[in-house]
Amino acid sequence: MTDLVAALRALVGDAHVLTLPDDMAAYNTDWRRKYLGRARAVVRPGSTAEVAAVMALAHDRGVAVVPQGGNTGLSGGATPDAYGQQLVLNLCRLNRIRHIDAANDTVVVEAGVTLQALQDAARGAGRLFPLSLAAQGSCTVGGNLATNAGGTAVLRYGNMRELTLGLEVVTPDGQVWNGLRALRKDNTGYDLKQLYIGSEGSLGVITAAALKLFAPPRATLTAMMALPSLTDAVTLLTQARLELGPALTAFEVISNACVPLLARHFPALRWPFATNHPLAVLLEVSDHHGEAGARDALERVLGLAMDVGTVVDGVVAESLSQSRQLWALREHISEAQGLDGPHIKHDISLPASHVAAFVGDAEVLVARAAPGARVAWFGHLGDGNLHFNVLAPPGSNAAAFAERQPEINRLVHDQVVAFQGSISAEHGLGQLRRDENARYKSELELALMQAVKQALDPLGLMNPGKVISPQ
Ligand SMILES: Cc1cc2nc3c(=O)[nH]c(=O)nc-3n(C[C@H](O)[C@H](O)[C@H](O)COP(=O)(O)OP(=O)(O)OC[C@H]3O[C@@H](n4cnc5c(N)ncnc54)[C@H](O)[C@@H]3O)c2cc1C
Repeated sequence: MTDLVAALRALVGDAHVLTLPDDMAAYNTDWRRKYLGRARAVVRPGSTAEVAAVMALAHDRGVAVVPQGGNTGLSGGATPDAYGQQLVLNLCRLNRIRHIDAANDTVVVEAGVTLQALQDAARGAGRLFPLSLAAQGSCTVGGNLATNAGGTAVLRYGNMRELTLGLEVVTPDGQVWNGLRALRKDNTGYDLKQLYIGSEGSLGVITAAALKLFAPPRATLTAMMALPSLTDAVTLLTQARLELGPALTAFEVISNACVPLLARHFPALRWPFATNHPLAVLLEVSDHHGEAGARDALERVLGLAMDVGTVVDGVVAESLSQSRQLWALREHISEAQGLDGPHIKHDISLPASHVAAFVGDAEVLVARAAPGARVAWFGHLGDGNLHFNVLAPPGSNAAAFAERQPEINRLVHDQVVAFQGSISAEHGLGQLRRDENARYKSELELALMQAVKQALDPLGLMNPGKVISPQ
């Protein structure tokens, strides 16, 4: 039998099969450098046909495959294990926008196109592709689909699942399913694409997608407000939804524990308030007629909120550059936390009505369990999605803090579930939350998930060890 690497090289070209440790280093670890794997090879196919050929070969040889896009995932889903046998299948060379259908408001795009490139292509055609997140310059459409990515515009446009009409998928044995139907109504049996969206590479390889496009708003206004409490933020969200309807396109929250992190690691970014407030809300209003309408709506909401004390201070961006400065604060929090030292991430969602009570209780529990630890939470309050991150006490031992991760996870996640929330909102389970998830799902739900895995990947070669435990 031909050597596996030689066979792969024959399929995709010598330059696109990496085997040297230095060449593979960036593919063998994740964005946070939390997981370090060792692939047998990194394969970079350039077309769906090449993906299919690689998958058929891997299937014949019984070799496991780890799909990978921009490798910005935060749950270790795209990192191979440490045993040197798995293939990393990097999709970044599948980078074509295949077709924009303006009359249908749809785009067909390959999996390796970055989210930024897709947004730019939509803009070039006079349309909006609304998914937006801080890693958009590097993350790919395939990764966005595989994790059912969310971001800052979910409140108005939905997450990746809601933006997707059709998929092209290569199955574990190398067959190509062309499900690229760009239809808003299609009830022809089970909706298979929904199984692949959010499956984190554990069922098949997504190679292309048919996605929805939207009319871009004529004007967008950004405001940042200081608030006395999270309860006030939820009240403001409720009022803003009622007053603004679909014009409310983002509602992000930033706790005051994030402010010193930004000041320390990104001093060029200026926090707009001189006084220390418990939290800030970053709100965006869009209007399809023009700026005057957006400004009127925003001022009405802010005026009402200030009258009743829900908002105590606020700035409205007067230019695109001011708006970018406010958004930059929100977008640099993750990185600032990473630079600040060890921290334990929680990507949770809750009904908006329970968010304030959850945070109040969870902060007390964390303070009791880990005195001196800082809780820096922020996120997409409009979707009930918080990144509730616990930072090591300053000067503490990193290894000792890391060892406490299971205990802190358990404490926070038990609380999330007690408040009817989810322990995995938008970053996926990967290997980080796989076992935690198993703890909270019913036996029946886990059995149904295993049945889907068994049906679509009977040999268990797709991204083993991610999402659900191998049987
Ligand atoms: C600074 C920062 C901010 C972020 N903010 C957000 C946010 O606001 N919202 C959010 O949802 N996420 C966010 N993320 C997480 C991450 O960017 C998203 O999960 C993104 O969708 C991952 O895309 P990727 O191409 O990098 O995927 P990767 O990291 O390469 O892979 C992620 C998962 O998808 C699978 N996968 C990748 N491509 C394919 C494919 N073609 N077919 C099948 N499976 C595949 C992988 O196996 C893995 O399980 C953020 C990350 C960073 C670093």
